[in-house]
Amino acid sequence: MADDVRQNYDVAAALADAEARFAEANPKSGAAYAAACAGLPGGNTRTVLFYPPFPLMLSRGDDCRLTDLDGHEYVDFQVEQTAGIYGHSEPKILNAIRDALDEGITLGGPTVREARLADLMQARFPAVELARFTNSGTEANLLALATARAVTGREKLIGFRGSYHGSVVSFGPYGSMLNVPFPWNFCRYNDVEGARAEIRRLGDDLAGVIVEPMTGSGGCIAATPEFVAMLREETERVGALLLFDEVMTSRLSPGGLHGLWNVKPDLVSFGKYLGGGLTFGAFGGARRIMERFDPRRPDALSHAGTFNNNVLTLSAAIAGLEQVFTVEAAERLNADGDALRKRLGDVLRSHEIAGQVTGIGSMMMVHLTDEELSSPEDSAKVSATLRGLLHLALIERGFYVARRNMIVLSMPMGAAEFDGLVDAFDDAIRHYKDVLPRA
Ligand code: PMP
Repeated sequence: MADDVRQNYDVAAALADAEARFAEANPKSGAAYAAACAGLPGGNTRTVLFYPPFPLMLSRGDDCRLTDLDGHEYVDFQVEQTAGIYGHSEPKILNAIRDALDEGITLGGPTVREARLADLMQARFPAVELARFTNSGTEANLLALATARAVTGREKLIGFRGSYHGSVVSFGPYGSMLNVPFPWNFCRYNDVEGARAEIRRLGDDLAGVIVEPMTGSGGCIAATPEFVAMLREETERVGALLLFDEVMTSRLSPGGLHGLWNVKPDLVSFGKYLGGGLTFGAFGGARRIMERFDPRRPDALSHAGTFNNNVLTLSAAIAGLEQVFTVEAAERLNADGDALRKRLGDVLRSHEIAGQVTGIGSMMMVHLTDEELSSPEDSAKVSATLRGLLHLALIERGFYVARRNMIVLSMPMGAAEFDGLVDAFDDAIRHYKDVLPRA
């Protein structure tokens, strides 16, 4: 048997063993999952949360800890796909939600809260001259893309293969048949000359280019400075809009990645943690574009949404930005992430295992390969089996991480959680050393 075939076989066998132990250790989750299959296809309403044999059923969260139905406790490094930055029980957030509840919900008119949140976002994010709120990151991206088409009067859009911008704007392996039928043209992420040529080719048919400055679920792979500079220069040149999807990455500095890198996209989309842990999305950008949403204008673009200004989200979001995820806190969290990423990389090197930990600040991903990773498509260089094995190995050691091996920080974490994760990672790598790829 060839070495790589033998290795794949061994990894698959190790994963099958890990799944059997998992099923045995989690009978109540297993039973709850079986019951869920009666009303939900595959027992599931968020594809990303499924993994075999069944996902852990969570019963509560405290600070950065989670408890499952079988009573196991985990340190939560999945952090609700980056949205759980405040942890599960930050008192300032909980109080803000309670205060809003006490004043009544679904009021059906503007309140002072939406203006306050817009002010806070304007102060934080340099590209946001005016903002609008939505209910999810998907919706924010759909509106930003539709806005680009409406204000330019053009049709075509460029996206990057392997990127994820929402459940119906997904260029990776998940669900692309459900995508909204925009006229997409695709390029490879970080391919400076390929994307430059495509932008020029589409020229004055091109409405906009959507890009994550660092791919989140697509591998935590950062755009290079040359790639970002080219996108800014070439979109401007042909009169198309540059859209930054900062739904995940806005947490990577007090002013998002565009603030950190001093780039000014025309539109930026947001979501996740900015809603304080509740349902949220937002898009904003240059005044000349966003003022088209001014309902007093005769040519106003209409943007409705029953819950765009729901008081619970707004209240939690304001408390989060004003009192918890302050400028100093954002800097500290991302410095902690940089240190943790380095320590995890050191573990791989100490065991002479092929691998790297990509990312910036508080978002990172482990890839058990030494091959170069420059585009989200490259995440597939690590097999799903290998990713599954590391995932279950960390869960077995009390650390809840995303199936794709993404690791995210939240604010309640400190040295004990970081040291614990490094020790668990070291133990998992040592345990499976014989089946992992060698450096
Ligand atoms: N853009 C990016 C970069 C995301 O990671 C996500 C969610 N994972 C979205 C958009 C969609 O956000 P939501 O799930 O709130 O619709």
